Amino acid sequence: MRTKIVAGNWKMHKNAEETEDLLNELIDRIPGDTDVRVIVAPTFVNLASAADHLEFTPIEVAAQNMHQAESGAYTGEISAGMLKSVGVNIVILGHSERRSYFHETDATIAFKTDAALQHDMEVIFCFGEELKDRQSGNHFNIVENQLRDGLFHLEEKDWEQIILAYEPVWAIGTGETATPDQAQEMHAFIRETVRQKYGSDIAENVRILYGGSVKPDNAREIFSKPDVDGGLIGGAALKATDFAAIVASA
Ligand code: PGA
Repeated sequence: MRTKIVAGNWKMHKNAEETEDLLNELIDRIPGDTDVRVIVAPTFVNLASAADHLEFTPIEVAAQNMHQAESGAYTGEISAGMLKSVGVNIVILGHSERRSYFHETDATIAFKTDAALQHDMEVIFCFGEELKDRQSGNHFNIVENQLRDGLFHLEEKDWEQIILAYEPVWAIGTGETATPDQAQEMHAFIRETVRQKYGSDIAENVRILYGGSVKPDNAREIFSKPDVDGGLIGGAALKATDFAAIVASA
């Protein structure tokens, strides 16, 4: 049995006070003995305080991005070592907004993944096709290439630190969700692609989250699919009642 994971990507939302308020509400609403892994990813400036705040709770904290270098003249960037030094052990990499607005390529994301693994961090690796790819029937190819170019240089042992997040770009923030069957179809394909490269053990153990307009009213059905191991939640992660309801559905 794979433990389900529900992760909240807060994107560029919530100042310091709002971050603290939302964390407090989540601590109140998410049962201490939940068997779901619950992760939240506030903005960089609020990560250290969030990590402190959540230390004795079941909620874990993740960064939304990082740079691949250890340190150096990279104005505006943050390294894996810096994240670790404030108690952050998980990082989201390759989110479609990073790929499209900040021009991150599969190669960049592969370097970042290596840097995170060198610091023994877990990586939530995001990937997924755009609408035009699905319309042209090219979605399986795109997803396979993203997986291969981003992660298939890894060694078997590295996969313990990898969480996959399939996020069809056309479903992110649009209110349009992949149907549970579309999600299952792609998740099964992803698991099979991992199996062909790394074998059954790794394929059966890797968690594959679905992301893209997951809400309290559609979460349960999506999460019930056999290859869907939870979700990466954007908009609905900003409201404690919604996020807690999604965690309860997992
Ligand atoms: P959404 O975002 O839930 O608002 O669609 C998901 C994501 O970007 O991770």
